Amino acid sequence: MTKLELTQSGPDLAAALVDIPSVSGTEEKIANKVEAALSAYAHLKVFRHGNTVVARTDLGRDERVVLAGHLDTVPLNDNLPARRADGLIHGLGACDMKGGVAVGLRLAATLAEPNRDITYVFYDCEEVEAERNGLYLLSRSNPELLEGVFAVVMEPSNGVVEAGCQGTMRVEVTTRGERAHSARSWMGKNAIHAAREILARLTAYEPRRVPIDGLEYREGLNAVGISGGVAGNVVPDLCMVTVNYRFAPSRSEAEAEAHLREVFDGFEVQVTDSAPGGLPGLGRPAAAAFLAVVGGEPQPKFGWTDVARFTLLGVPAVNYGPGDPLLAHKQEEFVPEAEIEQCEQRLRTWLTA
Ligand SMILES: [Zn+2]
Repeated sequence: MTKLELTQSGPDLAAALVDIPSVSGTEEKIANKVEAALSAYAHLKVFRHGNTVVARTDLGRDERVVLAGHLDTVPLNDNLPARRADGLIHGLGACDMKGGVAVGLRLAATLAEPNRDITYVFYDCEEVEAERNGLYLLSRSNPELLEGVFAVVMEPSNGVVEAGCQGTMRVEVTTRGERAHSARSWMGKNAIHAAREILARLTAYEPRRVPIDGLEYREGLNAVGISGGVAGNVVPDLCMVTVNYRFAPSRSEAEAEAHLREVFDGFEVQVTDSAPGGLPGLGRPAAAAFLAVVGGEPQPKFGWTDVARFTLLGVPAVNYGPGDPLLAHKQEEFVPEAEIEQCEQRLRTWLTA
């Protein structure tokens, strides 16, 4: 096994990581190399859980922060090996997120005496179902390994801090009627027609804009599906509108549910899926110090990501890493070498100043 050299430049390391194929489910090789490379450093304690590798400093500092990145990529799309041109690294996973992983590995190798204890997590299966996600599995088996006052998930974010994340809840709002032959429709009651009131409430709904820690979380309430109908000649007795509510992280799941029951008062409402939001936690000292170094205007995170997995564990988290998230999963994805270096430099300042 050729050794992964963690002291080469960040861009060189990122390109080397791109050249170790690691489509979700096949991360054993890259995890072996990462584990072996990190184990060479006496200032790190290294743990392996499946194809997830955790490395921790243990200096007894006042606080501990977590830096995390996933090792896997989406499937190959005729975009390996890495190709470098004009200050860009092209290739599968370059943007999402081997640039970020290179930053994390370089910091792990070179920061023997950081000002905060650091836990580095390099995990597998981020790009597939949540049940296989290495960070999720680790949070179930060894949550103590993910403890910290603040976490940075180094997914591509254009070098901008994206904080917290919205909660999400899906409900089915149901109308009931009575079946009848459509030739004698007055004998029945049309459940699909009755759904117009649900749609009217959704159309009239004004989503909140909620300020938290200086960020504005913009909510959304949308019908994302509708189903009903029995046959071409039957008045339907059932119609179901599926509604997705994206809510600000200051609202709990229970509060979100209560709100939806109020909005759809008079209808049957059933929750089918739900995940809480994550508070940005930017007021915490470690986060404030991080923002002071990284600079720029933090943005709220709208999607549900592994940032939220940390907040579920009580660890406020942000997304911060090199690369443009809009390029993730695209054949032509790339990461600028300068962004890898800038991201590393800023994290290094935060962790040593
Ligand atoms: Zn990613």
